[in-house]
Amino acid sequence: MSDNCIFCKIIRGDFGTEFVYETENTVVFNDINPAAPVHMLVCPKVHVESLNELEDTALMSELLQTVKAVTKKVGLKAYKTQINTGKEAGQEVFHLHIHVLGGWNK
Ligand code: 5GP
Ligand code: ZN
Repeated sequence: MSDNCIFCKIIRGDFGTEFVYETENTVVFNDINPAAPVHMLVCPKVHVESLNELEDTALMSELLQTVKAVTKKVGLKAYKTQINTGKEAGQEVFHLHIHVLGGWNK
C-alpha cells in the first residue's frame, strides 16, 4: 500500500469503486476514461510500480488468469491488452495495471 497511489486507494475501497472481478491477489475495475466500449484495468492488490518491479512470477500468472476470467465473465471473446511501462511509454499511474480493451463487436 502506497499512501500517494490512487489505485491503492481504489483497491482499499476509499472511493467505493465497483470491482468487475476480484481474486485473492488481483482486482479489476473499469477505467474512468474508457478508450473502448469496454475498458477495464487489471491490477495486483499489492503496490507494484510497474512491470519492471514485478518479481513475483505467481502474481504475474494470476494477473493473466484474471484477464482470462474477467473477459469470460463480461462476455468478451476478442480484446486487446496493454501494459504501459514508464513515463515515456505513457504510464501515468505508477501502480501496475493491464489495460483490457474490447466490446466493439461483442
Ligand atoms: P496508464 O496511462 O498509467 O497506463 O493508465 C492509467 C489509466 O488509469 C488511464 O487509462 C486512466 O483513464 C485511468 N485512471 C486514472 N485515474 C483513475 C481513477 O481514479 N479511476 C479509474 N477507474 N481509472 C483511472
Ligand atoms: Zn498502488
